[in-house]
Amino acid sequence: MLTIAVSKGRIYEEALPFLEEAGITPIDDPKTSRKLILSTTREDVQLVIIRATDVPTFVEYGAADMGIAGKDVLLEHGAESLYEPLDLGIAKCRLMTAAHKDAPIPKGRIRVATKYVKTAHSYFANLGIQAEIIKLYGSMELAPLVGLAECIVDLVDTGNTLKANNLEPRELIMNISSRLVVNKAAMKMKNKAIATLLEQFEHTLAKR
Ligand code: AMP
Repeated sequence: MLTIAVSKGRIYEEALPFLEEAGITPIDDPKTSRKLILSTTREDVQLVIIRATDVPTFVEYGAADMGIAGKDVLLEHGAESLYEPLDLGIAKCRLMTAAHKDAPIPKGRIRVATKYVKTAHSYFANLGIQAEIIKLYGSMELAPLVGLAECIVDLVDTGNTLKANNLEPRELIMNISSRLVVNKAAMKMKNKAIATLLEQFEHTLAKR
């Protein structure tokens, strides 16, 4: 049995064509089903539906053989413990700093609100900027509006969320897309099944 970890929502929707091309169609729709383990049209493949930030953990510990996760999540997790053989080019967006539209570029020590604590810390450290990183779990955009932080680090796609809150994107930290990750032991033990799946995913990618 091959177990693939995927998160609900955007990544799942955009990963479906890759899975379907490999003959993997979930029997239940995760949008309507409460099942956390989904059987598929392939008897040897099941999906586990988990939070995006948990995908690297499940794969690292071998609870899932493979997973699909955003590069933002992998960076924050520290993905040295996983193989990352394929950029699926889906769920693309940008990891950026953002601040209030009219705010001057901050000088000296700044406060940064984000859920990407490690990534933000190393980004500002590399620039030689002293930053106090404040961990939030959501609604980062609120932080500059209520004086919690001068700056945020968050994902930006259309920029509409920033705009609606009078914020603007400032510096690009990294272009983000979803990656296929594989457990290191599974790569050896289940090599044939995983290599075949990788080839099928690559084939789908090449057709795009
Ligand atoms: P937007 O308003 O289109 O710039 O989207 C920004 C909001 O959507 C932010 O709250 C982001 O955290 C979230 N977001 C954008 N792109 C992604 C993505 N690829 N994966 C997860 N969240 C995203």
